[in-house]
Amino acid sequence: MERYRVQPNTHVKLKEWDPNDKSLFPDGGKKKGRKALLALNARLEVLQEKLYAESKHKVLLILQAMDTGGKDGTIRHVFEGVNPQGVQVASFKKPTSIELAHDYLWRVHQQVPAKGNIVIFNRSHYEDVLVVRVHNLVPKSVWSKRYEHINAFEKMLADEGTTIIKIFLHIDLDEQKERLQARLDEPDKNWKFNPADLSERKLWGDYIKAYEDVLSKTSTEWAPWYIIPANRKWYRNLVVASIIIKTLEGLNIQLPKVDFDPKAIHIE
Ligand code: AMP
Ligand code: MG
Repeated sequence: MERYRVQPNTHVKLKEWDPNDKSLFPDGGKKKGRKALLALNARLEVLQEKLYAESKHKVLLILQAMDTGGKDGTIRHVFEGVNPQGVQVASFKKPTSIELAHDYLWRVHQQVPAKGNIVIFNRSHYEDVLVVRVHNLVPKSVWSKRYEHINAFEKMLADEGTTIIKIFLHIDLDEQKERLQARLDEPDKNWKFNPADLSERKLWGDYIKAYEDVLSKTSTEWAPWYIIPANRKWYRNLVVASIIIKTLEGLNIQLPKVDFDPKAIHIE
């Protein structure tokens, strides 16, 4: 998984990251991938249960991607079978007027995980240096200071016991076209189509530039970015699940010790 981790202070050029790569599971395919994911789902279920029981660690998973990049599908597939108690999803949409009346981290800080919990951010504070930058929603003098704020904010969360994993699902322009077309062709996917996605698609190059800055400036020791090849959904799911599992295993989670001898207790 290390191959997908962005080392701090590297200059990321997304052209050099292959969205079709499948080098961790070279013989994989849709069918094998689904089977392998089931095994990972089961491991994640056990780890999450222990995390919740121990109620010590806080885990924040940040998901970012271009439109149709697969954030929703990743959440659905990777967390399949995991007990919803102790896992929350926070989706960040266009800010409300109340949110806009505050600083951009205000709405974000309210959603960070409590002890024993995993919170998945479906979009995040990174939108404030992505869509906000691409559409000039605030001047450059304002958004350009945010990378530093974000690094400091995430450092504070990490120092206070939050484990942060940041995932960028990397698809290419052709794949996006296919996925948008599928949303038009398949009636049960129509609801996902947003005509605004077409105007956003025209800004692909601007978004790539904005993402490259995010990945270059905000991948830190305490909150690393991973760039996941995401043209193949089965591969994306396996890699994301593996990264989460590896990170949770690194926490050395222990079930709480009890202060009684269970064998000495007799229930009448
Ligand atoms: P979706 O994730 O498809 O439901 O769309 C959510 C929309 O909210 C996307 O178009 C985002 O660009 C937009 N959005 C999220 N955060 C912000 C933000 N901070 N400022 C402006 N737009 C945002
Ligand atoms: Mg959308």
